[in-house]
Amino acid sequence: MHSNEGTEKIIDEEVQGTTLTLEENKDNSKKLYIESYGCQMNFSDSEIVASILAKEGFNTTQDMAEADLVLVNTCSIREKAELTVRKRLEKFNAVKKTNPGMKVGVLGCMAERLKSKFLEEEKIVDMVVGPDAYKDLPNLIQEIDEGRNAVNVILSKDETYGDVAPVRLNSNGVTAFVSITRGCDNMCTFCVVPFTRGRERSRDPQSILEEVNDLWERGFKEITLLGQNVDSYLWYGGGLKKDFEKATEMQKATSVNFAKLLEMTAMAQPKMRIRFSTSNPQDMTLDVIETMAKHRNICNYIHLPVQSGSNRILKAMNRLHTREEYFELIDNIKKIIPDCAISQDMITGFPTETEEDHQDTLSLMEYVKYDFGFMFAYSERPGTLAERKLDDDIPEETKKRRLRDIIDLQQKHSLYRTQQHMGQVEEVLIEGFSKKSDAHWMGRNSQNTVVVFPKENYKVGDFVNVKINECTSATLIGEAVGLSEYN
Ligand code: SAM
Repeated sequence: MHSNEGTEKIIDEEVQGTTLTLEENKDNSKKLYIESYGCQMNFSDSEIVASILAKEGFNTTQDMAEADLVLVNTCSIREKAELTVRKRLEKFNAVKKTNPGMKVGVLGCMAERLKSKFLEEEKIVDMVVGPDAYKDLPNLIQEIDEGRNAVNVILSKDETYGDVAPVRLNSNGVTAFVSITRGCDNMCTFCVVPFTRGRERSRDPQSILEEVNDLWERGFKEITLLGQNVDSYLWYGGGLKKDFEKATEMQKATSVNFAKLLEMTAMAQPKMRIRFSTSNPQDMTLDVIETMAKHRNICNYIHLPVQSGSNRILKAMNRLHTREEYFELIDNIKKIIPDCAISQDMITGFPTETEEDHQDTLSLMEYVKYDFGFMFAYSERPGTLAERKLDDDIPEETKKRRLRDIIDLQQKHSLYRTQQHMGQVEEVLIEGFSKKSDAHWMGRNSQNTVVVFPKENYKVGDFVNVKINECTSATLIGEAVGLSEYN
């Protein structure tokens, strides 16, 4: 479900395909046009790519026709995402006809799976670069400049780009994403991520803190620590998470887990708001929830995808927890942080899903009453365990009908949750203009709900106390009662 003010920060439909630009460097003469699709991780990766290419003489442009290099950072999570990118590649090729010097490159999750198709069969791109190979871009660009196709889709054991300072593209100057892990080891049977982004590795906490401190110095007020499964973060000097057992006693004793990283970040910049995404229920510990409760600057919001409410389907998805264990986690969150907002990701129509399984999903939602939700119909992905072992046997109409059911229920719960804020005074960080009215600011409260209120003399980046007077299921509407003491 997508708010009209853009509540979703995970896969924001409104930003799909956004062209990313950054400030011009006068010494740079070449032009880069870069478009991004998919999850926030991809948008964050594009900031790393732009940083690497800025050193190679590229400025970004929003006009594809004048570009020397067109890059598209791709997503494979559902078939629809791939189809959208394919359409864009056709468009790029049409432009290439009028601008033959222009080179086209595919980055990200579609790279590995479709490299030979793109380069050899269809010959629609000049370069294919996987998510762990961005540091090789200068060499690959040289290859294509010399008239050869270039490809690097090697997945790495230790690449985290910790030493590349990302440039902030299309930034509001207030909120930023900071990547802390790459890849995923979970092997959920529906998911293509472990195949496209490789095994899980964590970034050096020192480089994370340096990035956060630098963002604060530059006026940013909120960061989101980013990873496919942030709670699984584990730094022990570098290397894959799965190799932790081979680490030395010293490495184990000085290792940093997610709760510790969260605390270190919160303490490094006590006035910076801290969020994190995504949490996998199987890896979220009480330590993390207690750390959230201890620090005022860690926001009361957890994105906690469950995917299904049925134990049988959870097992078939290889989600390593039961419905009952999930409820226990929710109960603990609510006990330790009573006003904590929780959101979900849900998949309808996973192979073999019955009406009874679907009812289990609805009853799980009824128990939790999520604040937000991101819901999808199952899309079979090549190479995943589900694709190899299970028939995609739920008819499209059934998937759609069940999706409608859960979206409707989520809508009801979202409204129930926003209504709980009525009459309260809440601290809001102003991010920018309201899309619907120039006379209003748009920001978020700690629970990540969008709040809109008249501008008065406040400015972007202010923490403002706002009294909530009205609400829709996605937006709180209020009026400022003064600056927060937190500024
Ligand atoms: N790492 C997170 C997790 O495991 O919960 C999120 C990963 S994914 C980028 C975001 C969401 O896309 C997932 O939570 C899931 O709901 C959805 N998704 C992933 N694979 C899918 C598939 N094959 N069909 C439909 N939705 C899918």
